[in-house]
Amino acid sequence: MTALNDHLIKLIKLHGPISISSYMTEAMTNPKFGYYINQNPFGTKGDFITAPEISQMFGELIGLWLADLWLKMDRPYKVHLIELGPGKGTLMADIIRVLDVLPEFRDALELHFVEASPKLSQLQKQAFKSFAGNKTWHQTVKSALSAAQTDDETTFIIANEFFDALPVRQFQKAELGWHERMVTVNSEDNGLITMLSPFPVQGEKLPESLKTAELHSVIEVSSMTDYITQQIAEHIKQFSGAALFIDYGYNEYRTGETLQAVENHKYVGIYDRPGFADLSAHVNFKKILDIATLNQLKTLGPVCQGNFLSDMGIAERVKILSKSALPDQRKNILTALNRLVSPEEMGTLFKVAAMISNHDIEVAGF
Ligand code: SAH
Repeated sequence: MTALNDHLIKLIKLHGPISISSYMTEAMTNPKFGYYINQNPFGTKGDFITAPEISQMFGELIGLWLADLWLKMDRPYKVHLIELGPGKGTLMADIIRVLDVLPEFRDALELHFVEASPKLSQLQKQAFKSFAGNKTWHQTVKSALSAAQTDDETTFIIANEFFDALPVRQFQKAELGWHERMVTVNSEDNGLITMLSPFPVQGEKLPESLKTAELHSVIEVSSMTDYITQQIAEHIKQFSGAALFIDYGYNEYRTGETLQAVENHKYVGIYDRPGFADLSAHVNFKKILDIATLNQLKTLGPVCQGNFLSDMGIAERVKILSKSALPDQRKNILTALNRLVSPEEMGTLFKVAAMISNHDIEVAGF
């Protein structure tokens, strides 16, 4: 039983059941006990490994994607580059390093980091100590976007494995309609369990394809993802720019639950270790891109990560890096390539999608 378990049990006994999304918010970002507030989740010793931590090639190719876009946008004199959930700061560091090939673009960058975790913000600040340009840390996307509101400047936004960390609500179909899944306390063993809201949820607008879903089907909705995407899309529409999102996810309105908990590279029950296990859910890219379309942006993808990286030239990158590598390092580069692009590894499950203000630009990678 974790300290957060105790806190949640008290809270539920006092105020009644909470939604799955409130549970997730508490587990991930409770100011005292939250997972992202206390843990350093990354790497072989942590709970999971992300693409930028597997290989520098990932960030370098995203850097080239951004550079290509900047050239096609006729070199805006200033670019606010906002990263959502930068983790250890590795992705941004790899982007900045590869921009040695286009220093004019690097000099045009002002960096913004959106990070909820004070611990990770500290790590990121350390990693960017020597970056000469402007850099600011924000706790919310809204704050970063407000710092980037100038008519003749542009905004690029990147996010790798950010949206999967945002809370989801779950709804389950029963005889009378869709009920929200809630978290309550089991009176027998005082543990956390799932229950359905006593009455169906009224007025939730369901996509047509889900109306005929079978009894007991579950759907997941991330209101926070919708909210953040809407803010980003409105911003890009008004001030120009682009956003590139990479995450594991799917591209349809569909049923099925994906919420999962991982600790030490192993799955655990979602209520087992709040505050110590990473909770995440697959991302609905269809919803994200539908919001972009509603805001009249051009949308790209989602394509599989393996295809995106291949299109961006990961094979050439492997050749260049291998030239100056020792045999052991060469082996590591090939292992990393396999993990990033192979369909059995991250290549197919992870998707890449983008939105951009200028409809005439041919965007690389898609
Ligand atoms: N992009 C990094 C880290 C991914 S993990 C990488 O690819 O390695 C998720 C990141 O999002 C962490 O930095 C976490 O602290 C941050 N995060 C999670 N929820 C957040 C929220 N609600 N607001 C801001 N940052 C959040």
